[in-house]
Amino acid sequence: MNPAADNSPKVRTRFPPSPTGALHLGGARTALFNWLFARHHGGEFVLRLEDTDRERSKDEHVTSILEAMEWLGLNWDEGPFYQSKRFDRYRAEALRLVAEGKAYWCHCPAELVQQKREAALARGDKPQYDGTCRDLGLGPAPGAVIRFRGPRVGATVFNDLVKGPISFDHAELDDLVILRSDGSPTYHLAVVVDDVDMAISHVIRGDDHVNNTPRQILLYQALGAMPPLFAHVPMILGGDKAKLSKRHGATAVVAYREMGYLPEALINALARLGWSHGDQEVFSVAELVEHFGLEAVGKGAAVFDADRLAHLNHHHLQHAAPERLAALLPPFLAARGITAWDNEVLLKAIPHLVARTPTLRELADWAEPYLLDEPVMDQAAQTKFLNPAGAAVLKRVADMVTAKGVEDSPALEEGFRELAAELGAKLGAVAQPTRVALTGRTASPGIFEVMGFLGRERVLKRLEHARRLAQG
Ligand code: GLU
Repeated sequence: MNPAADNSPKVRTRFPPSPTGALHLGGARTALFNWLFARHHGGEFVLRLEDTDRERSKDEHVTSILEAMEWLGLNWDEGPFYQSKRFDRYRAEALRLVAEGKAYWCHCPAELVQQKREAALARGDKPQYDGTCRDLGLGPAPGAVIRFRGPRVGATVFNDLVKGPISFDHAELDDLVILRSDGSPTYHLAVVVDDVDMAISHVIRGDDHVNNTPRQILLYQALGAMPPLFAHVPMILGGDKAKLSKRHGATAVVAYREMGYLPEALINALARLGWSHGDQEVFSVAELVEHFGLEAVGKGAAVFDADRLAHLNHHHLQHAAPERLAALLPPFLAARGITAWDNEVLLKAIPHLVARTPTLRELADWAEPYLLDEPVMDQAAQTKFLNPAGAAVLKRVADMVTAKGVEDSPALEEGFRELAAELGAKLGAVAQPTRVALTGRTASPGIFEVMGFLGRERVLKRLEHARRLAQG
């Protein structure tokens, strides 16, 4: 079953979130590393929902985790498997361990175990289970749990693919509960039974799990399975070097979608949290798949930098096809009250707008003037440029457009220069009133580009409308 056991080289990784909340950046980074590792090696990636905590696991969290994974493009080959549907399997394995003498029924009341722990702590001893039931050969009983019969001497050593060799003395470990009195498995049992059944070859997870690993390795061995290889990746910190949390800004993956980030930009940023490839910063997903390896995951904590993400998003936006961006924009436009527009104008405008916008949300803002029937006039811009002098300029610009159209930028530019010279002013004296007339704003792409993507008819209509405003 286990690939390592039959020397099969098949790489199989898994992402096993507990659906007790949304997918956060840390979880997404773990998912990404597992996904990249599987894809790089032509292996398989398994999705499993660890929903054994029935109180805290919620369907809505499952839905949002799956949505976030899909949005990021982290497709899975198997699953999602649900631990809540596999309780019989965990129980059967726990009973098998009891039958083989590798686990035992413990009848100690939970309160008594707790009291003993506290007393041990008070004495300055380790708060371990004292082994009362370990050799009593007890059977099931109401309230009884199954404990793993851990070795008392020796050590478990493993070679972490990120951290190097790690050793834990067995004296430090407890006879941990693997099956609770209500028949539910504990995390350790469920995760190990699943990783064996799902033939997981590599467990890549946050280093908050490093202390769980020796306990799990002992369980693999007890179950007669070869343990997978482990890679514990360092945690993610905020800019102030404290553990990344809400204080540092949005941590849920979906929040980044809502802010107008592209999934490949977030993937790029997440990949760089702990992993590097020379000093390359910008990666396509295909490049990440090509280069990803655990040997290049650093040992030190990674720092999440929102500015770097914005920078990467800006880059990826400029490399995305306008058709795709136009298809992603509707929710951002709807948030601005824009529900109908000429898609041809949008498609023509996008290449000129993306250079100025770090997110889709800002792209929607920049696109707005071209999609509305009439641009919304910025009051200060209107006051400054749409005055009688501006009206005279707009009349001349309209004549130019009538004569030359909007496609011949050099001819229009020449016309603008001649008009400016005639007025004894700079080019801006013609361009700015025109810009305000066409966009309602003082900032836009080059004015001749704007004319080009608005088209002759709209340009003339807007010039006329602004001229009327300017005349007062
Ligand atoms: N459900 C566990 C978690 O979300 C998975 C831990 C593991 O990878 O073994 O932390």
